[in-house]
Amino acid sequence: MNILFATSNPHKVEEVVAILAPEGIKVRSLADVGDLPPEPVEDADTFAGNARIKARAYAKATGERCLADDSGLEVDALNGEPGVHSARYAGAQGDRAARDAANNAKLLEAIARVPDADRAARFVCAMCLADPDGTIVAETRGTFEGLITTDYRGTNGFGYDPLLFIPDQQCTSAELSPEMKNARSHRGQAVRLLVSSIASLDQ
Ligand code: IMP
Repeated sequence: MNILFATSNPHKVEEVVAILAPEGIKVRSLADVGDLPPEPVEDADTFAGNARIKARAYAKATGERCLADDSGLEVDALNGEPGVHSARYAGAQGDRAARDAANNAKLLEAIARVPDADRAARFVCAMCLADPDGTIVAETRGTFEGLITTDYRGTNGFGYDPLLFIPDQQCTSAELSPEMKNARSHRGQAVRLLVSSIASLDQ
């Protein structure tokens, strides 16, 4: 089976390919699409809603079965923010690395005075697989629980990884190996749940 993963984030592609390739599922991403369709407006107020918007829009525009992921960080002390605004929490300026750095600095500042006991947070990932006619073939969700650190730790991964401390590993998500992150993460869980649905689909 071939699917198009509607993302241009190379980190997400790596994480998803590592799980789907051994299942015999060939994944292409938007980086492999010549004529990129216009980006849909992600204006839903849930991760699942935005994943659905992206999967349907790219499936329709490309004529291919399309997988989309919408993910982000929910911080309890901030009433669930940045949530669906995680990617652009500190604004839309600059490249991905600059946005990640600005987002992380804003988050550390926003919870600077929050005590350790109240720093619970989680990554959430909603995945949606859609056909070109708009049919939703599968929808899954995964979460990855931790605590927001007071300083950056680790260089693996992307986004808020250096700020999410995983208590049972005694390290941040950015200090986990790619294999360990995939075994535990929100995205890893969501993709594995999709695998059984995908396996039963018509080729
Ligand atoms: P999306 O591309 O609209 O799904 O935005 C996801 C944003 O949430 C990213 O830009 C990151 O800031 C954050 N995020 C999602 N998944 C992860 C992860 O696995 N590690 C770190 N940050 C993540």
